[in-house]
Parts: sequence; C-alpha cells; structure tokens
Amino acid sequence: MGLVFSDFEMLAYGSGLGSVGPVAQDDDGSVWKCALLFGKGDFEQLVHWGHRSYNAKSNICSSCDSDRDRTPWTDLRLTAAWRATTSCTHAQYLNRIDKQHPISKSTFFNKFFFRYDLMHCFDHHGISAVVAGSVLMKLVRDEHRLGDNQQARLDNINVQMKLFQDVQRPSSRMPTIRLADLIVNKWWEPGGTIIKAASTRKLIPFISHLTHLYFDNEGNE
Ligand SMILES: [Zn+2]
Repeated sequence: MGLVFSDFEMLAYGSGLGSVGPVAQDDDGSVWKCALLFGKGDFEQLVHWGHRSYNAKSNICSSCDSDRDRTPWTDLRLTAAWRATTSCTHAQYLNRIDKQHPISKSTFFNKFFFRYDLMHCFDHHGISAVVAGSVLMKLVRDEHRLGDNQQARLDNINVQMKLFQDVQRPSSRMPTIRLADLIVNKWWEPGGTIIKAASTRKLIPFISHLTHLYFDNEGNE
C-alpha cells in the first residue's frame, strides 16, 4: 500500500513518469502532474487513513473536537460547543490524525481530504438515532395530548406512525416501537434487535412530522 502512495507522490512531483504532463500550476509556479483531490470511504476506511475513530473513548471526530462528554457530538443546538472547533489550522488538524498512514503522511494531505460517509453519519448509530430517540422520548414523557401515561402515549405514536407509513410507503418500515426499544446511551436513541439502519433512516420524515404537530408552538424545544 505504501508503494501505491509513494507512486502518487512521485506523480505529483513529476519525478515518476516522464511522459505525464502537468495537470495544474500553483500561483508560485509549482507544477502538478497528478492531483489526488480527496478520498471518500465509509467510516472504517477513514479511520484506517488516520481519522479519529468513532469508537474512541473521547474525541471521535477529526473535523472538530466533539467527544462523548465535555463537548458532546450529540448536542445538535446552534450553541453546541463543538461548532467552534470546526475551524482549525492545518497544524491543529494534523494533531487530530491518530494513526500514521502513507496518505496522511503525505506533504499534500490537508483538512479537506476526507469526504464523509453521510449514510453512516445519519443512520441508526448517528444523528438520526439521536434526533428520533430524543423526539420520541420527549413526547412519551411529557406530551399529555397523546395520552394519560407513557404506554398510552407510545401506543398513540405507533398508530400515527403506521398511518404515516401507509401513506408514505417507505422502502423500509419501522415496526411497532416498544418502550424497551427507547434506550439511553447518555442520550436517547431507538435501539435493540428490531431497530435497523434503513428503518431508522426512513423514520425521519415521521419524526419531523411529529415535531411540527407537537413542538411548533413551544418555542425552541
Ligand atoms: Zn466533527
């Protein structure tokens, strides 16, 4: 693998293949014969390239300094502390590279190189889970228009969800949600054996619908 990347470096410097012409030129006159603009992969691949790991104990992101407790990535408010850390210098960014890999050791590597795998950012271990779990649990605990107790409120939500999905006909339906399927993992999220990535993703339009029905008149929930 290292050889492949050293070949890329040679191509970029123009020292490898004499027949390759320049593809770009910088303002200072530097000529580029190869430009590897970005690398896109699922999260596992990004971690192989040196990105902080989503399984890390503390900081989990190289694009910002979000973590699991002091600067939680699950804080999605405009005032979330991690937002201020998304802007950083090249040197700060390199400090967020955990493990050495030929691609991150390249002199051309920079903070724009990684392209994120949005499907996994948004799925059942990502932002969709936090949003869905937080909205559902808030309604189950507090929304008396839905019923007199938590089970009655969740039953009501399940009836609405079924009707919504009957109309929307998503390719993957969320089955009836039980109280036991709303779990707390520092934050609320749907979890357990019946919760799948695709059905969580397809649940988001219904979650959005619920927020308009029940939160719109309550200011910033
Ligand atoms: Zn981040």
